[in-house]
Formats: sequence, structure tokens, C-alpha cells
Amino acid sequence: MSKWKDRIGGKPLHPESLMMSYGYKPEWSEGAAKSPIFQTSTFVFPDAEAGAAFFEIATGKRDPGAGEPRGLIYSRLNNPDVEIAEDRLALWDGAEDCALFGSGMAAIATTLLAYLRPGDVVAVSHPLYGGTHHLTESVLPQFGIRPVTFGCACPEEEIEARLAAAGGRLGMVLVETPANPTNDLIDIACCARIAARHSTPEHKVLLAVDNTFLGPLFQRPLDHGADLVLYSATKYIGGHSDLIAGAVLGPASLVEPIRKFRTLLGTQTDPYTAWLLMRSLETLKVRMERQAASAGVVADYLAAHPKVERVNYLGRLSEGSPQHDLYRRQCLGSGAMISFEVKGGVEGAYRLLNALQLVKLAVSLGSTESLAEHPATMTHSEATAEENLAAGVTPGLVRLSVGLEHPDDLILDLGQALEKA
Ligand SMILES: *Cc1c(COP(=O)(O)O)cnc(C)c1O
Repeated sequence: MSKWKDRIGGKPLHPESLMMSYGYKPEWSEGAAKSPIFQTSTFVFPDAEAGAAFFEIATGKRDPGAGEPRGLIYSRLNNPDVEIAEDRLALWDGAEDCALFGSGMAAIATTLLAYLRPGDVVAVSHPLYGGTHHLTESVLPQFGIRPVTFGCACPEEEIEARLAAAGGRLGMVLVETPANPTNDLIDIACCARIAARHSTPEHKVLLAVDNTFLGPLFQRPLDHGADLVLYSATKYIGGHSDLIAGAVLGPASLVEPIRKFRTLLGTQTDPYTAWLLMRSLETLKVRMERQAASAGVVADYLAAHPKVERVNYLGRLSEGSPQHDLYRRQCLGSGAMISFEVKGGVEGAYRLLNALQLVKLAVSLGSTESLAEHPATMTHSEATAEENLAAGVTPGLVRLSVGLEHPDDLILDLGQALEKA
């Protein structure tokens, strides 16, 4: 049972219907229809006894009694805007709990620190977002935590063999699907089986899925056995290239230890960013659906263009291929991320990027405006040329995040730029 009105006559309402009201009461704020920005670092206690009670609950000395509110103390612990945005974001993934962070990297790093311990092995999919790759490959080993990596084509038995060869306790499985920038899909259910096989009554191995590319609209990892969902909310959830934020979602019992680390490390988000996220969540579905529809049209255009060698788009996987079967099982839509190989290698890709007039040349993704970049020399330049080639990040590959412009105009721009490539 939700503590907020989320149904009419017993019928549950859709998340998009709840984004404008859920978790907020106008009577808290002079009847304001929209939540104000609670721009405050600290909160006044009604009396000393109440302040002491808020601390007992915040420090885990006791659980809140029935109907007892989690009192507001200090904005590193909690804040009304942050809590409302968390309650709303949780609805999309059907998650019990959500914690917002100052960035996607803050969410990922805080989660790994909360659950991994020296001597552990962490199983990670490949390729990974550059920051996550650096964290697992270069930083965690300095704390005695070793990564074991696997790609989308790696069979379950081979992942198990690599874990056995690595030795040590499996601390966590962390995957990113679809992978950036190739759109390779990782099988979440298979990863959940691996996590379960390595779990003991004393130690549950958690499966965390970075759902930034398709979620929360087009992929629901919790439905496929994931324990935690991670986001860079900077991307589709924020959606306007005007904020940096991250999120972790899952059962309250698993999110709470991460929230405790968030309080200690100070990786929380701020009231204004949370307020911007509430604004963004109201249009999340219309934005993502429209962007995905346009991406389908653009991907078809690119695939038919003589200067384009190959297009990676989830809506164009070949019928009957293992990746297409997995797509059918795991995804609810193709999203709006495309990568494509331009003839002429890096020079061809640069000529195309330099000729674009409507699409902006920038990293990041998921925004209202279309963005294009060159993975091999930009977002994925930390990996070696061999690693990139093996992962399909070729010199001619361009990544395109399709925005809300008219698809005809995007095609017009891409067409004139391809002429020059
Ligand atoms: C951008 C991104 C991140 C990092 O998020 P920030 O908000 O930039 O810290 C993590 N994972 C994926 C898949 C991303 O695209």
C-alpha cells in the first residue's frame, strides 16, 4: 500500500499521471500547486524530544513506528524536494525505494563502496561507461577489489570459469545494458542466476544494472532479477542538458545501506537539482517515446545511405539473432541512441561531425537536443585502440543521441553532413 494516493476507485494510476502530484501536498506550502524549492541546509525541530526521535530513526537505533514520519534534520540526510523526486522516480521502475545522488558516478561509486570489501571480486560487463571502467579497473584494485570482465557474447559457463579462476568472494555483479556506444545487450536474467549461485545465507551477491540508456521507460531490470537499478539522471531522466544527478533504486532493505554511505560521503543531490528533476519527470514519457520514434526513422535513413557502413540500433537487430531474442525478452522499446560507422575512418567521421548544423557536437546523451560525438577519440579514448576495436568502437564510428527536433530536419542535417564526409 502506498502512503500516497496512487489509484482511483481501486484502479492504479499510471506513473505519468502521478508525476504532477505524487509525494507532495499543496497545504505544506501555502497551497502552491508546484513544490517550492526548499533551499535550506537545516530544519527546525518542533521540540527537543522530536529532534531526539528523528535522530534515533536516522541513525538506525530504532525503526519508525506505524505512521511515524522520518523527520527532516539536515539536507545532507534528507530534504523535501529530494524525497519527492525520489518517490516519483521510484514509480517508473516499480521500485520500493530510491536514493538520489549528485551524479551518476556518485550513485555508482557510493553503491560499490557500500557493498564491496577488500578481497572481493566484482563481475563487470564490458564495455562500460568510461568513469565506471576507470573506477572498477584502476581505483577498486587499490582497495583490494578485483574486476572480472565479460562481454555480451560471453556464455554463462565462461563467466563462471573466469570467476573460478579469479578466486575470492564474488561481491557484486555490475552490468551496463545496452552498452555504450555499441548498443550490445547483456542478459540480465543470466547475470541474476550467476549472482544467486554465488550467494550464501550470510552474503547475498547483488546484481546492479546501469539502466541509463533505456530506462526507466524501455527496460525494467528489477522485473528480470536485478537487485539494484543505477542511473545517470543527467541523461534521459534530467533530459535537458541542464543538470548532473544520479540515482539508485531497489528494495528499501538494499537501498538503505547505500543511503547511509551517501550521508557519510556527502554524495547527495541538492534541492534545486531535485526540483529540476521533478520538472523533467513530468515529460519523461512523452520525451522518450518521441525521441525513440524519431530515432527509428533516422536509423533507417542512415542504414540506407551509401556513406554509412553499418548502423547499431536496437530497432534494427536482425530477426532470429541471439541479440534480437534477448531484446524481445528484456526490452520494451529501442530507445534513441544510435551509433553508425561512416566510410573513410576517423577523417570521414570528423568531416561529418564538423559539418553538422542542427545536431550539436558534444558528449552526454538523452537530452531534448540531438548530440553527436566520436567515441574512439572522445568518450572511449581511455581504452586502448585494440580494446576499442575488439568492442566495435572503430575509427569511423559516430554516436548519435536523437533529441526532439523534427526527424525530417535531423535527416536534412545528417544528409548534408554525410555529403561532406
Ligand atoms: C553518463 C553516464 C554515467 C555517469 O553519470 P554522470 O551523471 O555523468 O556522473 C554512468 N553510466 C552511464 C551509462 C552514463 O551514460
